Amino acid sequence: MTANLLGFDLDGLAAFCERLGEKRFRAVQLLRWIHQRGASDFGAMTDLARSLRDKLPGLCEVRALPVLAQHESADGTIKWLFDVGEGNAVETVFIPEDGRGTLCISSQAGCAVGCRFCSTGAQGFSRNLSTAEIVAQLWFAEHYLRRQLGHQAHGLSERVISNVVLMGMGEPLQNYAALLPALRLMLDDHAYGLSRRRVTVSTSGVVPMIERLAADCPVALAVSLHAPTDALRDELVPLNRKYPIAELLDACLAYLPRAPRDFITFEYCLLDGVNDQDAHAEQLIALLQGHRGQGVPSKVNLIPFNPFPGSGLRCSSRARVQAFAQRLNAAGLVTTVRKTRGDDIDAACGQLAGEVQDRTGAAERLARPRPADTGQAERLQTDSVQPIIWQPRNEALS
Ligand code: SF4
Repeated sequence: MTANLLGFDLDGLAAFCERLGEKRFRAVQLLRWIHQRGASDFGAMTDLARSLRDKLPGLCEVRALPVLAQHESADGTIKWLFDVGEGNAVETVFIPEDGRGTLCISSQAGCAVGCRFCSTGAQGFSRNLSTAEIVAQLWFAEHYLRRQLGHQAHGLSERVISNVVLMGMGEPLQNYAALLPALRLMLDDHAYGLSRRRVTVSTSGVVPMIERLAADCPVALAVSLHAPTDALRDELVPLNRKYPIAELLDACLAYLPRAPRDFITFEYCLLDGVNDQDAHAEQLIALLQGHRGQGVPSKVNLIPFNPFPGSGLRCSSRARVQAFAQRLNAAGLVTTVRKTRGDDIDAACGQLAGEVQDRTGAAERLARPRPADTGQAERLQTDSVQPIIWQPRNEALS
C-alpha cells in the first residue's frame, strides 16, 4: 500500500520529500494543500513543480477513511462512524456551539483499559489507530463541514473546527507513537493551527506517558478520575491498580508547569449508588484540595452516565447530580455538569462501532431513523462554563 500523507507531520513529510530529492519547503506546500485546503489530488496542487506532481501519485496518496454512517442531530451535532478495516469502526463527533466547533476523535479501535462504565471498554481492544487514521478523522470532518457551510477552502481563516478533544474511543496515551505526530499536525500553522489550549488529551491515567506528553507536546490535559479512593477506582478504572491516584495526581502536578492551562480537568462519571453519594463528594474535595498538602488546581466535569446494555450500572438522578455538583462548588472546586448534545442520535459511544465489529448489520440499522430516546429522562441541560465536550458516550472519558 502506498504511503498515506495524512500520517506525516511536518518533519515526517520533510523526510519523505528528502527521500525523493525534494527540499523541505515542498513539505510545507504539501501540508498546506492537504490540511488547509483539503486537497487529495496532487494534480490540483498547482504550486508544486510539475515533475513532483507527476511523481507523487505512484508513491503516495491522501487516503481518507471510508464513512460507514453519519448521523446529524437536530442540535447540529454530527456523529460519524469510520471504517478502519477488518470489521473495526471508530466514532467521531462534531459539536457546534456559538463561536466554537469541537471535534471528539478516537485513538484506538476498542480499548484495553476496560473501564466499568464504558461501552468501548466492554468490547475489548482491537488495535491502535495509525497517525493517518487519527488525523483522517479531523481532515474529513473539517473539510466536510467547510463544504457544508460553503466556506472556501483557502486556509486557517476558514476553519470550522476550533477545538479537538482526544476523548473518543481508546486511551490515547496507550497509542503515544501515533498520537504525537497527530498532535503536532493539529498545532502546526501549516496544517490546522490550533492552539495548545484547544487540543485536549484525555487519559485514564497512564502516568509515565503524562510525563512524556509534558516534555514532547504539552496540550490541555483531562484526567478520567471517576472515583475519590483507590479502592473504588480500582473497580471502575482498572488501570488504577497500576497507577494509583496519588501517582496520578503527582503526574498532574508535574504536568502543570508545562500545561497551556493552569488547571487539570478531572472527569467524573456519576453512577447511581456507586460513586455519587455525599461522602464521595467530600472525599473528592479532600483529595483534590489536599493532595501533598497543596492540592491540584482543578476543574471537575461531572458526566451523567449513559447506560448501555449489560453495564449493570444506572445513571444518577438529576437531583443527585445537582447535589453532588453543589457540594463541590460550595467547597471551592470549579465544577460543571457536562451538557448533553445530540440526544436524538445518541448511543453510548462505542456501541455503534461495537455493532460493526460484531458484524450485526449496524451500518444498515444506522441508515434507518432511530426511535425516540426514551431512557434519558434524567439527563441534564445545565449552564456550563466548561468547553463543551461531547457527551453521547460514556467512553468519552479517557
Ligand atoms: S473510558 Fe476511555 S480508557 Fe476507559 S475503557 Fe473507555 S475508552 Fe478506554
